[in-house]
Amino acid sequence: MDVERRDKLYEGKAKIVYATERRDAVIQYFKDDATAFNALKKGTIVGKGVVNNRMSATLFERLAKARVPTHYLGTLSDREMLCRRLDIIKIETIVRNVVAGSLAKRTGLEEGTPIRQPIVELYYKSDALGDPMINDDHVRMLRLGTPAELAWMKRMALRINGVLRPHLRRRGLLLVDCKLEFGRAGRKLYLGDEISPDTCRLWDAGTGEKLDKDRFRRDLGGVEEAYQEVYRRVVLGERRA
Ligand code: UDP
Repeated sequence: MDVERRDKLYEGKAKIVYATERRDAVIQYFKDDATAFNALKKGTIVGKGVVNNRMSATLFERLAKARVPTHYLGTLSDREMLCRRLDIIKIETIVRNVVAGSLAKRTGLEEGTPIRQPIVELYYKSDALGDPMINDDHVRMLRLGTPAELAWMKRMALRINGVLRPHLRRRGLLLVDCKLEFGRAGRKLYLGDEISPDTCRLWDAGTGEKLDKDRFRRDLGGVEEAYQEVYRRVVLGERRA
């Protein structure tokens, strides 16, 4: 695929978005930069951009087969993905299969407690406010999306989880939770952003070892090794080290 990279449209914590000669397409460039706790903690995870780009591509392709519309149009290089240009909805949709992170804090349930029926949570995508949790009424009040869009996003989030969870389990990974972002293009909605160890919690299915960004957030060490292990299993399809 040959697409020309034009002006930088946006630079975030982990990615840069560039315009292309196609009005309906952008390039997502994946960096090695990592931040946590609303950018209070900063660092570099060597090779992360490649892992996140390749892993996202693999999973977007898997989701397309399950009739999930995604913004993925193709892989341009190790760190560049061609994507449909979306108007991103300012909601982070989180699906959870196992208690971890903020859900453990909010409920007092122990991290690792299985959740019988996957749950969906909504957060307002706002750095200034630190991504507060919101509900359907707040979405309506803030005009972040229509009730129909929200219903579609929740249904799609559960379908995505229903595809990714067994797919990752076959590769020895427990999908604990996952953050999804959706956007509009024309009259349709699409899954956007990325699906990676930055945006999902992934635990080794046998040992429970954390193989995601929590290793960076919580200073557990072995951060690069964890990302490479996920790459081996998800992108190369190797079951074990
Ligand atoms: N997450 C994310 N970006 C955010 C917040 C959360 O990708 O800004 C992901 C996080 O990696 C985890 C899931 O969403 O996989 C649930 O995160 P949680 O609410 O437990 O928040 P945290 O403990 O990370 O503050």
